[in-house]
Amino acid sequence: MAAQSETMEKIVALCKRRGFIFQSSEIYGGIGGFWDYGPLGTELKRNIKDCWWQDMVRNPPPGPDGQDIQMVGVDCSIIMNPKVWEASGHVGGFSDPMVDCKACKGRFRADQVFHVPLYRADANAPFAQLSVEADDEQGALAAAEARGTKLSKKHGGGTFVARPLRVSEYFEANATANKNLSCPKCDEIGTLTEPRSFNLMFQTHVGALQDVGSVAYLRPETAQGIFANFKNVMDSTRVKIPFGIGQIGKAFRNEINPRNYTFRSREFEQMEIEFFCNPKESMRWYEYWRGVRLKWYESLGIKSDKLRPREQTPDERAHYSSACIDIEYLFPFSDEPQELEGVAHRGCFDLSAHGKHAKGKEDAFAVIDEETKERFVPHVIEPSAGVDRFALATITEAYTMDEGRASPEFMRFHPRLAPIKAAVFPLVAKDGLPEIAEPIYRAIKKHYPVQFDAKQSIGKRYARMDEAGTPFCFTVDGQTREDGTLTVRSRDDASQTRIAKEGCLDYLRDQLGL
Ligand code: ATP
Repeated sequence: MAAQSETMEKIVALCKRRGFIFQSSEIYGGIGGFWDYGPLGTELKRNIKDCWWQDMVRNPPPGPDGQDIQMVGVDCSIIMNPKVWEASGHVGGFSDPMVDCKACKGRFRADQVFHVPLYRADANAPFAQLSVEADDEQGALAAAEARGTKLSKKHGGGTFVARPLRVSEYFEANATANKNLSCPKCDEIGTLTEPRSFNLMFQTHVGALQDVGSVAYLRPETAQGIFANFKNVMDSTRVKIPFGIGQIGKAFRNEINPRNYTFRSREFEQMEIEFFCNPKESMRWYEYWRGVRLKWYESLGIKSDKLRPREQTPDERAHYSSACIDIEYLFPFSDEPQELEGVAHRGCFDLSAHGKHAKGKEDAFAVIDEETKERFVPHVIEPSAGVDRFALATITEAYTMDEGRASPEFMRFHPRLAPIKAAVFPLVAKDGLPEIAEPIYRAIKKHYPVQFDAKQSIGKRYARMDEAGTPFCFTVDGQTREDGTLTVRSRDDASQTRIAKEGCLDYLRDQLGL
């Protein structure tokens, strides 16, 4: 765990130093749960979104029978009629159970505070207890260990066993008995309230009057814009069931406890597909999308041993969902894999809900299958991914430490995701070398993101490009003047070869495969 969080600290430092990610409004002390992407991070995120759009919407893999998949895209508004959120269940139900501390006013997610009694091996009653915030039991144990040792010393020393229990479960088992619970922040005992629901949607007002009638919400997911436009898309295009609608856009959730860097933010971007199909075919499509989405991450360099598909148990799934898989990734900040994407079989829940709320009939958005003449409300398979979580996974996956190199830290990005694809350097900023290098840079620039740099030692320039994850550097030197060749240095193994200076673009095309 310690080595893992050390890695995370190094990654966070590199991201700031090299302009991948900054704290939002940092000059004013920041604001919890909001992040800005710097020049390199912006390119990385754009590449992620472009790859997704290209691979899922414009050119999705062939279907289960080798058929073409029909996909189209939409780009919906962030603020929608609030009735959308009533129909979707977000206004009533989109909430996390929270506990508040009456002493320090801290607010915590009830499923992420652990009550940790400490026992001696031979005793039935705990000799002390504490509370910690953690994602899972492992994390709670790790967090409790150091403090437990201090408490143990205070009570005569010796070994002890910690038995963490989620506060939400504690309340389920003990009804209102909070008198033994301490606050994870101020340690006061008996000050935590019972868990209460807290709505995660950000509210705003539309128009000049700020009253109940003008309340609106920033969307907590992009999916509902797709459902609300289902009929518009069917009426305005030639798509027929089965088909999918994709959307990429911002979503906002007033997360109680944003943390783990960008992993849990209050403003983030989603890449969502709603795939509409015949109910009888829905499990086949569920399996198709599950496979497609897993392969997509692998194809962009996420190693399969860190990628963990986890089929949800019936207890975890929403009542209308007959299957759901979380695609999880093992981030360095946790011992447990964390969700990158959910692929859910949502049945006809959303279209029926909007049919009922908007048109008064659950089957208002039913379609007729032209071949079989069956009438049904389409079932939906929803692969829903987070751009920022994938960006973070990509960054942590790319981060490589090789003590054998002059500058040991470098980013091994997949070529499609690398923010900069190449750099062009004159070895020295004189002797006519910049004049040879500049046209090469300009020729590449028309096709790929590329940088030109003539300052500092060549070693420092390579190191900067390694940290940015640039796969190739072209260096013009004295020999270029004589025989027209230059050096290509590869990021991954720091190897160098010479090629003709006219061949840079073809070399990049070959090597990047783009
Ligand atoms: P979690 O359980 O981690 O809160 P969720 O199950 O609520 O996530 P969904 O509602 O399924 O998430 O949203 C789909 C995707 O949107 C997630 O898989 C994730 O990639 C992304 N996402 C959701 N909440 C956040 C957040 N607070 N910050 C960044 N990305 C998020």
